[in-house]
Amino acid sequence: IFTAVNVPQAPEDPLFGLMAAYRKDPSDKKVDLGIGAYRDDNAKPWILPVVRKADDILKNDPELNHEYLPIAGLPQYTSAAQKLILGADSPAIKDNRVASFQTISGTGAVHLGALFLAKFHPHQQPRPTVYLSDPTWANHNQIFTNVGLSIAKYPYFSRETKGLDIEGMVSALNNAPAGSIIVLHACAHNPTGVDPSPDQWKRIAEVVRAKNHFPFFDCAYQGFASGDLARDAWAIRYFVEQGFETCIAQSFAKNFGLYGERAGAYHFVSPPNQPDNSIQHIASQLAILQRSEISNPPAYGSRIASIILNDPKLFSEWEEDLRTMSGRIAEMRKGLRSRLEARQTPGSWEHITSQIGMFSFTGLSEKQVQILREKWHIYMTKNGRISMAGLNSHNIDYVAEAIDSVVR
Ligand code: PLP
Repeated sequence: IFTAVNVPQAPEDPLFGLMAAYRKDPSDKKVDLGIGAYRDDNAKPWILPVVRKADDILKNDPELNHEYLPIAGLPQYTSAAQKLILGADSPAIKDNRVASFQTISGTGAVHLGALFLAKFHPHQQPRPTVYLSDPTWANHNQIFTNVGLSIAKYPYFSRETKGLDIEGMVSALNNAPAGSIIVLHACAHNPTGVDPSPDQWKRIAEVVRAKNHFPFFDCAYQGFASGDLARDAWAIRYFVEQGFETCIAQSFAKNFGLYGERAGAYHFVSPPNQPDNSIQHIASQLAILQRSEISNPPAYGSRIASIILNDPKLFSEWEEDLRTMSGRIAEMRKGLRSRLEARQTPGSWEHITSQIGMFSFTGLSEKQVQILREKWHIYMTKNGRISMAGLNSHNIDYVAEAIDSVVR
């Protein structure tokens, strides 16, 4: 029988624990390089100017009310989200082979996809294993295990080159049991900032095809990585063009700065030449899962995103805002690398500028991370990952000095 006294204490979420420690630190020198949220040059959250505009439009809409959205979400939002990730001229959209659901941001999208695959993956007996990159966004581990799927790792990051271990990755995917689920970060890999090149993506696609694996894309940083929406969606569009059956978890947290509004989408893409009704069957099952989990998704964030995505003028203003964010981060990358090189800090720092997106995997050890926190009041995750958005023109010299001192 269940009794509450048998429930063990769970560990604190490492990232949210780090945030709490940062908030408590009274030092005026403290620097937050932990959480993956964009900050402006004054270390403040940034409301995108285009989001402010969309918010005004919403506020002045006399038709607006607080009714429930449909189970699958706001239709004009999901269809715009689909076009954004797959490309407006995607063969999959043209052939009507995509089922899209509005979700509780990217996390909810990964969860809905995990739940669906746990129930309907064709290689169900034995149940498929989910292969995650080593390392990956820590939440992947629990999202997939929570729905009863077992997880395994494929090599991803090479400690020597601080780049992609493509040989290790391809060989692990080749050795994985046929029909495994392979989780792939579409761009701006979290936590390493290391992405495959187009040629490397082609090799990954080849082995996924040869082993009949199911590619599951997680896309939390479209437009935020390179500043270019199409470029950041390249891998997904390539897989879809190659006719893969696949699915995509899409988050609008970072690229719209809508973190707390939980705007995301889940897209299931069927391969070409399936019976006409198969995508409807999939959508009908997703609807039942969605209904039992959240009933229907939250309205506010999706309304904001939908206004912007469906208005060409606002859309181009959004692209400008994306370039502002990705541009500032790229500047910080250059600035940190050049400061470390100017100090002749031991080691190579080239990876700081070759890595992409929100994060950099610095190569700092757990011990060095601890000293940075205790002595310098600089907060980052234990694996040496820094959120580049936490750097700004006021603290970058201080951070470079601190890193230099712990590395020597
Ligand atoms: N997937 C990856 C790889 C992420 O880095 C994140 C956020 O950090 C997410 C998904 C989901 O974030 P959210 O649920 O806030 O959209």
